[in-house]
Amino acid sequence: MNDLLSAQRSTVSDGMSVREAVEELTVTLASAGIPDAARIGADVIAALLGVARSWPLVNRDFNLDAGLLMAAREAAQKLTSGAPFAYAVGTAPFRHLTLEVDESVLIPRPETEMLVEAILARMSAEAVADADWGTAADIGTGSGAIALALACEGRFERIIATDVSLDALSVARRNIERNRSRLRAPVELRHGSSISPLGAERVRVLVSNPPYVAFSEGEALPPSVRDWEPPAALLSGADGMAVTAGIVRDGASILEPCGLLVLEVDERRASLVAELVMATGNYIAVGIGFDLTGRERFVFATRA
Ligand code: SAM
Ligand code: GLN
Repeated sequence: MNDLLSAQRSTVSDGMSVREAVEELTVTLASAGIPDAARIGADVIAALLGVARSWPLVNRDFNLDAGLLMAAREAAQKLTSGAPFAYAVGTAPFRHLTLEVDESVLIPRPETEMLVEAILARMSAEAVADADWGTAADIGTGSGAIALALACEGRFERIIATDVSLDALSVARRNIERNRSRLRAPVELRHGSSISPLGAERVRVLVSNPPYVAFSEGEALPPSVRDWEPPAALLSGADGMAVTAGIVRDGASILEPCGLLVLEVDERRASLVAELVMATGNYIAVGIGFDLTGRERFVFATRA
């Protein structure tokens, strides 16, 4: 078969084997200078099918249907224009869950998985026998990552998840539906800034991964972050502290006595955030947590 016929066959055929699809995606990706194109081509197929990364490597003769092929080609095109992998395929893994993501939400990060781990560890250590853990609130929930992971893995009675972005809340809503069978507690979505959507609630855990990059630092972010992720999820005033400072200032009013405040922070400002928390006079046991690379990335405090 000559090249032209072969190209037509690829474009109009109803299906294609995994092997052929990965070969086609590899050409698309490599011609745009994307390194490790074959691996990424296989990863695209795996992500769209919702299977392990190794699956395409051991199921090369599996026939992919036309819909999947179209989605894979679209994902490859997005990758060639510089899109992060998660936006190209429309999903991102977060702890035990697969979350839908689009350009209206931050792609959940591995360090935020650690933040969830730290909350679960502290709550398990404090919990009395089989008693539930009360209510947790996640400010700036984005895709719903923190809220859904806590609902999936914790023993909370309920989770309230907020965001200023209605588009982000739509993504979070779809993620609740998509993962409903895995959630052990209801997740309630509320629209608004900082703690205002919480009204007169009293919560046991107040957690947030707020935007914390200063406006002037935005240009220095990697292009895949700066050019693709929502500015409202990243940038927070001239000093990167606007949203964090608001939560620190007002959070104590909604935390139960002995309740836990947990914030993800920029490594350059962890001490500053910890000092702000102490200066409120409302907290005891203020501490800083580290990510896997030893950077200061979390601030923890207990409501006095
Ligand atoms: N929680 C998600 C995660 O960890 O992947 C998303 C975190 S993203 C860094 C910050 C989120 O906070 C964005 O979804 C953004 O829309 C939201 N946000 C920004 N300013 C806010 C504010 N003043 N109040 C509530 N949410 C805000
Ligand atoms: N960790 C993000 C980054 O890649 C920033 C997220 C945030 O501002 N919370 O810079």
